[in-house]
Amino acid sequence: MNIHEYQAKALLKKYGAPVSRGVPVLKVEDAEAAAKELGGPLWVVKSQIHAGGRGKGKFKEPEAGDKGGVRLAKSIDEVKTFVSQMLGNTLVTIQTGPAGKQVNRLYLEDGSDIEKEFYISLLVDRATSHVAFVVSTEGGMDIEEVAHSHPEKIVTFSVDPVTGVQGFHGRKIAKALGLTGDLAKQAGKLAEVLYTAFVDTDMAMLEINPLIITKDAQLRVLDAKVTFDSNAMFRHPELAELRDLTEEDAKEIEASKYDLAYIALDGTIGCMVNGAGLAMATLDIIQLYGESPANFLDVGGGANEEKVTAAFKIITADPNVKGILVNIFGGIMQCDVIARGVLAAVKAVGLEVPLVVRLEGTNVEEGKKIIRESGLNVIPADDLDDAAQKIVAAVKKEAA
Ligand code: GDP
Ligand code: MG
Repeated sequence: MNIHEYQAKALLKKYGAPVSRGVPVLKVEDAEAAAKELGGPLWVVKSQIHAGGRGKGKFKEPEAGDKGGVRLAKSIDEVKTFVSQMLGNTLVTIQTGPAGKQVNRLYLEDGSDIEKEFYISLLVDRATSHVAFVVSTEGGMDIEEVAHSHPEKIVTFSVDPVTGVQGFHGRKIAKALGLTGDLAKQAGKLAEVLYTAFVDTDMAMLEINPLIITKDAQLRVLDAKVTFDSNAMFRHPELAELRDLTEEDAKEIEASKYDLAYIALDGTIGCMVNGAGLAMATLDIIQLYGESPANFLDVGGGANEEKVTAAFKIITADPNVKGILVNIFGGIMQCDVIARGVLAAVKAVGLEVPLVVRLEGTNVEEGKKIIRESGLNVIPADDLDDAAQKIVAAVKKEAA
């Protein structure tokens, strides 16, 4: 689960991280009061969307144009102008895709005088099963690009969960960033704060790009991107409330209500599969035969008819879906349950695209019988290879 920059900063502030003062702005009318509250003389108007690269982004509508989704204002009038140009406008950045994202929230921040920009992030390193720090002097830019062209400028280390963050971790960061004296001390404090916040709230990633040194020699968190481990959100009801549904795919929200592992993709073949491994294999084989999957959907091991029905409805509701492939290997999951779920869903929403069903495993004969006797126009398949070829052929035929 992702949250907005202003929410991430409020959270980090509670743990003692140095952030600028700021006020979220949700309505154009609130801009002036927010600007007066901060006082100036420099304000930053920041688009709040769940995507990075906002500063270099471009708005779709002409009046805000290509000035970017993060703008510096030198007067209250400028703040008001920028707010009215940005709010409700669609921002396109390298991370949003060409469709962009509508900016429904802004964050007005007290402007900082920047001396230097650094990069620091924390994430779960699966190789060591530890929380790892990634630190670089090359802040404010695309870190993937830095990793590619100047890997030597990125310093990484992980923290032993038994000891937690210690003094030497802070010194590693200070060394990597070339900080001495009081700034090195600030780096040590920051390492502790970030690590504690990360572990306490079950984050999966915390990225600060840039972390800055201000002209008066203070470290400050200037941007913050937080992703929480969705599987741990039940432990943090107060954080779950920060979820912004307008940032998420409507189909994914619907799927999460039924506990379905669903990810929207941009191809044409809707897939309903059980088990993540089989789902991956299904996506691969569809690609192998020359089409692309419209989604990843794992109905899981113990899905009931209601869940299968919901899954099928989500797939058919996607206008990009030109064909559906149901690929089930029934172990705990029973083939007849899948068959009944598919029928119930088709009855409810109709079936306008070709449907290939491959069932194998527990109660397979009963499952096949249910489908056969349903009178539905289903193309049966015997194995994964056969199923993939059939759905790809059917979709190509429809398109021709
Ligand atoms: P991103 O483009 O989505 O990563 O948004 P950031 O929050 O990182 O802002 C983009 C850039 O705007 C930063 O790298 C800074 O160069 C600049 N910026 C952000 N806040 C301030 C500020 O308070 N003062 C100044 N001078 N520049 C800022
Ligand atoms: Mg940034």
